[in-house]
Amino acid sequence: EQKRTINFGAGPAKLPQSVLLQAQQEFVKYSNSGISVLEMSHRSSDFSNIIEKTQCLLRELLNIPDNYKVMFLQGGGSGQFSAVPLNLIGLKGDRCADYLVTGTWSAKAAKEAEKYGKVNIVHPKLDRYTKIPDPSSWTLNPSASYVYYCSNETVHGVEYNFTPETNGVVLVSDMSSNFLSRPVDVSKFGLIFAGAQKNVGCAGVTVVIIREDLLGHSLKECPIVLDYKVQADMNSLYNTPPCFSIYIMGLVLQWIKNNGGSAVMETLNKQKSAMIYDIIDASNGFYVCPVDEVCRSRMNVPFRVGKKDGDEALEKEFVDGAAKRGMIALKGHRSVGGIRASLYNAVTLEDTEVLAAYMKEFLKEHQ
Ligand code: PMP
Repeated sequence: EQKRTINFGAGPAKLPQSVLLQAQQEFVKYSNSGISVLEMSHRSSDFSNIIEKTQCLLRELLNIPDNYKVMFLQGGGSGQFSAVPLNLIGLKGDRCADYLVTGTWSAKAAKEAEKYGKVNIVHPKLDRYTKIPDPSSWTLNPSASYVYYCSNETVHGVEYNFTPETNGVVLVSDMSSNFLSRPVDVSKFGLIFAGAQKNVGCAGVTVVIIREDLLGHSLKECPIVLDYKVQADMNSLYNTPPCFSIYIMGLVLQWIKNNGGSAVMETLNKQKSAMIYDIIDASNGFYVCPVDEVCRSRMNVPFRVGKKDGDEALEKEFVDGAAKRGMIALKGHRSVGGIRASLYNAVTLEDTEVLAAYMKEFLKEHQ
């Protein structure tokens, strides 16, 4: 293991070092192929094996039922903000969809969906994204084509600790920033998508898991590369897929499997996030996390330093001091400021302990 800078970035995020080293070792000549994965035909037998193996690992790790298709697509999570309505809003004649808007990412998804149908925000509008409105305050539309939510809001650090009940309406979830960080019952969902660049790989590939009966309902204006039925029928090979990103994801999934799968990831993610939240909560208001305790994210821990709305000079000092100690990417999203520590699967307990020790030291120095 080489000592590296600790990356607390929100994504693209840290990858396990063993994955980087394996990719390095195989980079010029992959297996017996004699060439790099970067140079391979996506229709070659070597690449077929890679995509097949990656899909099998994902099915195994998430226990994906047989009546679901798995796709590896391009266009990122944002591409799915369009693909979801383009494929699913026509499921029922009214072209309506229900959205839970609990942060930047679900807000963007809802706005994109408005281009293709009627969007109903099911709860009273939030003026700050620091909580999940209680389900008793939601008005779900029984004739909506689907209900959409983002299971972890990366910018605000708001994570659902439950699966929304939709009374039979198709449930769609953006799991980009907590994918495979905990077990999930796929059978409760019509569709799950996740960009790989946080918990399961590098940028370029987005996983889409869809129940088979939802295929074949796209609007006629749906671009063909976003058409789930076309991509599912072609096993994600309608056009050239992001081959190298799929290969890297395969290595990360193998690493997750070797380390005990989603249940072990969950245990570690609980421990890591508790370590940071405990320091925040014991700091007498020096560190402040604005998010309701019940929906605090295990993946992205946002906090202010110095006072409730943050002392920006102190926050800068915090970030600069962290950099001097080999920790980077702790600055909060530009839209909210403050600090954000992202603790995805590849961030270790030891990495988190380094941050925790620094937070304690900084608190002592400034309190
Ligand atoms: N959804 C969530 C929850 C995200 O965190 C992000 C990216 N940070 C996106 C969607 C958008 O993903 P992309 O940049 O791959 O389009």
